[in-house]
Amino acid sequence: MDRQQSLSRLFDGSSEWDIAVIGGGATGVGIAVDAASRGYSVCLVEQSDFGKGTSSRSTKLVHGGVRYLQQGNISLVMEALRERGILRQNAPHLVHDLAFIVPNYEWWETPFYGIGMKVYDMLAGRYGFGHSRLLSKEETLERIPTLEPDGLRGGVLYYDGQFDDSRLLINLAQTAHEHGAVLANYVHVENLTRDQDGFVNGIVVHDLESGNRHTVRAKSVINATGAFCDAIRKLDEPESDPMIAPSQGVHLVLDRSFLPGDSAIMVPRTSDGRVMFAIPWHEHTVLGTTDTAIKDVTLEPAPMEQEINFILETAAQYLDKPPRREDVLSVFTGIRPLVKTSAGSTAALSRDHTIHVSKSGLLTIAGGKWTTYRKMAEDCVDHAATLGKLDERPCVTKTLKIHAWDANPDQFGQLKYYGADALKIRALMDADLALARQLHPALPIYAAQAIWAARHEMARTVDDVLARRTRALFLNARAAIDVALEVARLLAVELAKDEAWQREQVNVFTAIAKNYLVPA
Ligand SMILES: Cc1cc2nc3c(=O)[nH]c(=O)nc-3n(C[C@H](O)[C@H](O)[C@H](O)COP(=O)(O)OP(=O)(O)OC[C@H]3O[C@@H](n4cnc5c(N)ncnc54)[C@H](O)[C@@H]3O)c2cc1C
Repeated sequence: MDRQQSLSRLFDGSSEWDIAVIGGGATGVGIAVDAASRGYSVCLVEQSDFGKGTSSRSTKLVHGGVRYLQQGNISLVMEALRERGILRQNAPHLVHDLAFIVPNYEWWETPFYGIGMKVYDMLAGRYGFGHSRLLSKEETLERIPTLEPDGLRGGVLYYDGQFDDSRLLINLAQTAHEHGAVLANYVHVENLTRDQDGFVNGIVVHDLESGNRHTVRAKSVINATGAFCDAIRKLDEPESDPMIAPSQGVHLVLDRSFLPGDSAIMVPRTSDGRVMFAIPWHEHTVLGTTDTAIKDVTLEPAPMEQEINFILETAAQYLDKPPRREDVLSVFTGIRPLVKTSAGSTAALSRDHTIHVSKSGLLTIAGGKWTTYRKMAEDCVDHAATLGKLDERPCVTKTLKIHAWDANPDQFGQLKYYGADALKIRALMDADLALARQLHPALPIYAAQAIWAARHEMARTVDDVLARRTRALFLNARAAIDVALEVARLLAVELAKDEAWQREQVNVFTAIAKNYLVPA
């Protein structure tokens, strides 16, 4: 993926694309993969970096959603469990199964959650990840030695999926590119164009690096901008009512000692009625999440004090050693693109996706979840094909291997999240020992990864490398700030930038990263 080549194709003015996609999150990039692999011509533009929005800020679960089972949304759970199984087959280098334990402190919890998890197993059918079972107190503590032992009666073990969200997104972008899609980051959609009958037939884009503006023509335009989708809908219909009820979720990242072993904790009902997880991820512990209604949708939402306190207090009820503020290595916040209904709290809003077609033919897709991105894309491309009067072509993504597919990623050690690309990164390290050095003792990142990100993954900034190509910012914000200058230097060589650019990059990244630090 080369940004300059993408821009040349996008802006040459000669082609009318079958489909133009606005938004480079899971939804938009999933659509690009689906459309390109059917053989449609498709372009995608993202105003910031791929995954800068919600798609890098999830709880990192590929799951049916135990909570939706509690809400009785059986069809959503079944669809998500099927998609979970499909995704593990198509991206085994990024999706793996994980054991979850529901710790039981009340007498009724063991039978209640034990039966619930059997239903979850049953709904998964042939896409099951492993059978749930009851654990004794001893077995529960053996798997999670840091659980509060006082009053513990036992646990319920079940299996779900886990992934690295932004790495999957980048690999999906590469998959789309390999099937002929043209994707570009840092291209903002400012307006829509219409034909003489008033139908949307293109987008007006602003290349944020060069400052140039262009019109890109397309038979079908898809608004896949997640929580931002109402702004694009207003370009189409200024009077339209908002579709999105934005709500944010916060996660705290701690070191691994809070959750040693390979099992996660699932608390099915916190004091505010939500589900809370503690999950091992990249040799750290992720705690979350919250669900707080917000007014403004921004690219770098900030955690609220009460959200941080709530997660710490809930964790303290279940962990033997309660985490303190100073234990938090990073805090990250994402905005749910929940579609409005008449329901009250955002926690009760549907996680199903919605496809809306405006009078002028603009297609908006919103809601859903990461786990179901493939099915969302299939539905959306079916609609776009009808609207754009494209030849009917079947969806092929159920069995489409995602870029860097590898069935045995553990063989690549620290680089396992790169799947088959790990071999090429290792080759970079072998050819130049300077690229084999670890950038920070607290972070499992090597100089070669920054080079690889610039050359093959369209990374344009220090933030792209430290937040989404690697997960440094999400794992340890202070350590990420420490390595920013070194990453700026490495990128500058690849992107032919000067020292002023490096200084500016460090300043911009440091300002972003401060949002990931918890004040003492
Ligand atoms: C806290 C939290 C935890 C979650 N956990 C899970 C989980 O564990 N498992 C799961 O399956 N799902 C989870 N989800 C849901 C999942 O993350 C989202 O459903 C999904 O990432 C939404 O993707 P999207 O592409 O629709 O939106 P986004 O990822 O936000 O992408 C939209 C993109 O559009 C771009 N854009 C906006 N305006 C413009 C414009 N004018 N021009 C060009 N580009 C534009 C934005 O920059 C953005 O990158 C979670 C969500 C949250 C908030």
